[in-house]
Amino acid sequence: LFSAVQLAPRDPILGLNEQFAADTHPAKANLGVGVYFDDSGKLPLLQCVQAAEQALMSKQAPRGYLPIDGLAAYDSAVKALVFGAQAPAVQDGRVATVQTLGGTGALKIGADFLRQLTPSAKVLVSNPSWDNHKALFSRAGFEVAAYRYYDAARRGVDFEGMLADLNAAAAGDIVVLHACCHNPTGYDLSAAQWDQVIAAVKAKGLTAFLDMAYQGFGQGLAEDGAVIGKFAAAGLSFFVSTSFSKSFSLYGERVGALSVVCESKDEAARVLSQLKLTIRTNYSNPPTHGAAVVSAVLNTPEWRALWEKELGEMRTRIKAMRQALADGLKAAGVTQDMSFIVNQVGMFSYSGLSKEQMQRLRSEFGVYGTDSGRLCVAALNSRNIDHVCQAIAAVMK
Ligand code: PMP
Repeated sequence: LFSAVQLAPRDPILGLNEQFAADTHPAKANLGVGVYFDDSGKLPLLQCVQAAEQALMSKQAPRGYLPIDGLAAYDSAVKALVFGAQAPAVQDGRVATVQTLGGTGALKIGADFLRQLTPSAKVLVSNPSWDNHKALFSRAGFEVAAYRYYDAARRGVDFEGMLADLNAAAAGDIVVLHACCHNPTGYDLSAAQWDQVIAAVKAKGLTAFLDMAYQGFGQGLAEDGAVIGKFAAAGLSFFVSTSFSKSFSLYGERVGALSVVCESKDEAARVLSQLKLTIRTNYSNPPTHGAAVVSAVLNTPEWRALWEKELGEMRTRIKAMRQALADGLKAAGVTQDMSFIVNQVGMFSYSGLSKEQMQRLRSEFGVYGTDSGRLCVAALNSRNIDHVCQAIAAVMK
């Protein structure tokens, strides 16, 4: 039965983790995986999460099945966070939201639903993008192509290229957009550029799928989420995947959500029924714990305020590390202008380093980033920053 089964390639990022674990360099630093670590290099357990967990544990609630679409209080809290509780689409009952297994689960449920609905549509992802976008939509059965995004020479977005590619897409094609904190480049669109993207999506009849895995890591919760309001205000039907992996530091709990904005309440009810069917035939219903924690935090004003404070601290620390990296590289003798590091947003910096330079960083200095030159600045801290700066400066000479 399995004699013809081929060995699948190792996940490039998780492969790096294994290599890092085996590395004996005394000053090694893992800037490969997209995870936020605090200044002591530890994965934080947020205080708001601890408070909610303590309260949940003291209740000693039994663990029955959740509904197929998840915890109702969670789904409504996600709607309020992503769209605003008073948003017309929410008030009109036009948003179908389901709890999913992280942001990846939201993308997968959305992809499977879309595949049933529009099987011949093409999916467009940014070049470059989070690798799993292409893999996931391909595995769901779609042909996946790219739209231009990163402009290496300009150190920013090739916006004319992006718009031209969207305008060349066929009606019904699906375009995956990073709502904020673009992974891997760290370059987001301006509000005015979003307006042009929305106009193109509308004019060409494209289906937008907004992936929001980092809400709150860019400029703030409301600022990062503003693009969702723009799509809704344009009267479009679209998809939003939400992840709380990073913003709640709940990576392993798999807490996410898929929201689909529809034209009417009746349409949303029908879409919801199909999303539930997709979930039911995949894993039946989602797990209880993570959603219970996130819902408790979002729905309890005191914990919600604590979360926003802690999220703000993570965001501020990342920005401080960006500045420290740019300054440290200059101090270490790098003459090129590295100020772009400070202008990028989110967890990553697309450093512009070549594959060879990234490999030297690993083999000679124990500094791990991806071969594409992506560095996770959220893993920098006051103890590893000097070594990282010296290492990058050395490979840039
Ligand atoms: N989308 C993007 C752009 C991401 O970077 C990630 C996480 N690396 C995800 C989705 C998936 O998030 P989760 O871990 O919640 O599945």
